[in-house]
Amino acid sequence: MPTSGKPIEKLRAKHSKTFQKLFDNLNTLQKKAVNTLEGPVMVLAGPGTGKTQVLAMRIAKILQETDTAPHNILALTFTESASKAMRERLLTIIGEEAYYVQITTFHSFCSDVIQSNPEYFPFSRQAEPLSDLERFTVLESIIESQPFQAIKPINSPLFYIKDCIRAIQDLKREGVSPDSLRVLIDDDAAAINTEELSDTDRHQKERNIEKQRELLQVYLLYQQALIKRGRYDYEDMIFFVSEMFRKHVELLRIYQERIQFVLIDEYQDTNAAQNAVAELLVSYWGEHANIFVVGDADQSLYRFQGASIENSLAFLERYPKANVISLEQNYRSTQSILDAAHNLISRNTLTNDRVVTRTGKKVRLKPLISQEKKYGVAIRVAEFSSDPTETIFIAEEVSALIHSGVKPSEIAILYRTNADSAAIEDALVKWGIKYEIDGGVDVLETPIIQQFLSLCSVVHRLRSKQEDLELFTVLNYPWSRIDPLDILRASREAATKRIGLYDVVSDDTAYNLSLKKPEELRAFVNRLAEWLHADAELTFPQWFEKVLNESGLLQYVLESPVSMEHMNRLQSLFREVKLMAAGNHNLKLADFLESVERMREHGIAVREEDMNVHVDAVKLTTAHSAKGLEWQHVFIARAVDGKWGNVRVRNLIPLPEGLLKQVRVEEKEQNEDERRLFYVSLTRAKQTVTVTYAKTAISGNRSRQHMHSMFIEELPKKYQEQFDSDEFEKKSESLLRRLLQQPTHPEPTIDEQEWIQGLLRDFVLTPTALNTFLECPYKFKLNSLVKVPRAKQDYLSFGTAIHRALELLFRWIMQYDVVPEKEKVIGWFEEALRKEVMSVQQEEARLNQGRKVLSIYYDQYKDEMKKQLFLEKFFGYGGSHIYLDDIRIGGRIDKIQWMDPKKKTVAVIDYKTGQPRSKNDIEGKTATSTGDYKRQLLFYKLLADLDQTFGMRVAEGVF
Ligand code: ATP
Ligand code: MG
Repeated sequence: MPTSGKPIEKLRAKHSKTFQKLFDNLNTLQKKAVNTLEGPVMVLAGPGTGKTQVLAMRIAKILQETDTAPHNILALTFTESASKAMRERLLTIIGEEAYYVQITTFHSFCSDVIQSNPEYFPFSRQAEPLSDLERFTVLESIIESQPFQAIKPINSPLFYIKDCIRAIQDLKREGVSPDSLRVLIDDDAAAINTEELSDTDRHQKERNIEKQRELLQVYLLYQQALIKRGRYDYEDMIFFVSEMFRKHVELLRIYQERIQFVLIDEYQDTNAAQNAVAELLVSYWGEHANIFVVGDADQSLYRFQGASIENSLAFLERYPKANVISLEQNYRSTQSILDAAHNLISRNTLTNDRVVTRTGKKVRLKPLISQEKKYGVAIRVAEFSSDPTETIFIAEEVSALIHSGVKPSEIAILYRTNADSAAIEDALVKWGIKYEIDGGVDVLETPIIQQFLSLCSVVHRLRSKQEDLELFTVLNYPWSRIDPLDILRASREAATKRIGLYDVVSDDTAYNLSLKKPEELRAFVNRLAEWLHADAELTFPQWFEKVLNESGLLQYVLESPVSMEHMNRLQSLFREVKLMAAGNHNLKLADFLESVERMREHGIAVREEDMNVHVDAVKLTTAHSAKGLEWQHVFIARAVDGKWGNVRVRNLIPLPEGLLKQVRVEEKEQNEDERRLFYVSLTRAKQTVTVTYAKTAISGNRSRQHMHSMFIEELPKKYQEQFDSDEFEKKSESLLRRLLQQPTHPEPTIDEQEWIQGLLRDFVLTPTALNTFLECPYKFKLNSLVKVPRAKQDYLSFGTAIHRALELLFRWIMQYDVVPEKEKVIGWFEEALRKEVMSVQQEEARLNQGRKVLSIYYDQYKDEMKKQLFLEKFFGYGGSHIYLDDIRIGGRIDKIQWMDPKKKTVAVIDYKTGQPRSKNDIEGKTATSTGDYKRQLLFYKLLADLDQTFGMRVAEGVF
């Protein structure tokens, strides 16, 4: 590899032994799939048959046998963590070449296409997809402003808002634009007149069509609103990329040249929009495209109403000559688990015998054969009187497994919804069991964020002097570091004198309280007042940062044994805050608290980001996120009716029937989607599955009776072993006490070292990060790695706006070959600056400053401005990774221009908006200089030289 100076052949030879050994282990059909390098291939096979393994092996094979470069291969996985797992799998097979293979999700791939081609996608660089709250707010105002009939009940105008959100998401995922929706609705409407229908059916259908027509209006207005804001939503990203690929062949060609092989894992769940992108990428080769997909219709969980066989049918229609391979050998589970699971899924009628290959062979569902042929207990079912007992049982069982020597990471607890995790987590903490939980937690419901929100609320209430009760709570949080006895004394005083706690503390001259540390208490309370004052002056992100620092909360979090978890939650909240501020520059504390209130009211969560650390801990996850994974022992918790099976799906705005091209979803039986989810859960287990449920669910002082899940009923008795829970129920009373104890300090689950290593795995070293590190390693850790919440400083916002104006200036010259008017350039700057979050005063000052410097720059360089080679070129992101040994590096170069096209030499240019510096200072030759500027230029040269896709040499650097 050029980066580390080792020739590629040597590396390949070193790893070809590992590859050969793994290859020899494959069975005949797996080998066939790996060996078929050319043309379209579809592997359709059940869980644990090695589909993902085959996909990885095939990448290795392509690299071994052809002269394809790793960056010419695109492997698409379903989630970020699946991408990571795939890269790690590949690293063990082919070594460091694996770094250069493009392994990514559809979303990251498309996001990268958007970022790298600003001329086709008119979003500002900082534009992020709409948050859930923003989406809600946009739709709310649309519905409120329109005279809808069918989807706007008079008494509850927002009744359908969530259905609209879901419908628009589904439409975009299935690639249905407003125009095509109109056609679909018209088709359905026309059909009503020709079909023979009962009066009720006709009425129902007509009503649906009315709703759909109004939905179409909402969809149109929603898209308009997004365009007006220069924003897009999460679903748009993929849709836009396929649109642009279709419209602009020259853009598509760039990617077609770069990508010679496309491989897709979990193909059953790729939706129409994603499929369109994949197909366009390989479309140049028509029917002979090098596209390799692996999937299992029975594990389809995410596609629109579980359109399970849609993809396989469409694939065969698109590539009639495709090789279809099915695998039958299972390498994961015992035969008993496989038999039980097979028996269950055979009840799904829609999938059975439906995929037919060109030879007329039906590709469907033979029972899988376990590699180990082990029988034994298939599925243990345990019933309990109430859910706390069920939870304790799980904790006890997990604990026993671990004591018997099972690695915690070989155990998983699966549940149906994110909300199910809290009680189980609580028990695991009290049982001292290490666990990790996949993202998805609503940070607004976590203690550390609630503490911060209480603090915000106290500050806000100072205004109306209603802070008392909450002030007491906040003062008692550990990070305030105030003596609890002092707080008690002060509150007693307040109560006896019938005045506010705040007043007692802030003015103790009048009250002699003999406190231990009155200064600390007073200082804290004075800070509250100061923060209230600061709210008027600062932008909200700045305020957030200030309060986080000055309250002692940040310090507390950094010192806590679970600092990583806390920090991750603070970051997740701060990300939301930045989004809010980007949408409303004038965001103030009151608005923020109101937004949080609205989110709670409408059940909109701020989802915690996945920390992606793999530690030896028990896995807690929803069944959906367990897809593709495997463990020795699997628990399926809360297996009751209405949760697993017979879930009440709210489908108040049914979408037109022609939405899917291959299947009509109404053919399926109602519980098929849910049954697949249960099937996926069962087949995650290698050795044992334990399904638990409780007859009574207790929440607060209410209790509800539950039936067990229909899937337990559907599993033939011979595959079940009933756990006799009588004895456990008796002993559970003493254990319940343990569950009710006050929480002790949580065990650190994630070791800081492991966390940092995890962060480093994804880390791209930029010149700024390097300079920060050299300045102070601890600062580097906080700012570059851990990313402590920090508001963007106004000088940085100013820099961004100047960059943007210059970028557009040179883009203009490249496009039209003339220098644009000065006013135009200044206009671009103003527009860009107004998108930045800053206070009114700051904005005014920065506007003036920018107008001045741009004008001077323009006058001075007007005659020298010439065509550039690249503007804003990103190195080391997206498709091309750059490594210096094993350190991934990257950066953005503002401008690159030719020096000598014959010698292929170029100059790199970086814009600086700070104070001008002397040459000696830049070179690091003065006493005060850190040499950071020069280092930055050298870094750029390194990037350009190491990038395999960049064929030019940097001979000069300019600021
Ligand atoms: P799922 O449908 O659940 O995603 P899958 O078909 O992708 O399953 P893999 O995860 O690739 O299955 O493989 C399941 C397990 O079997 C893995 O642990 C894998 O390493 C192992 N495996 C696959 N093929 C072989 C083989 N030929 N010999 C030994 N082990 C194998
Ligand atoms: Mg798999």
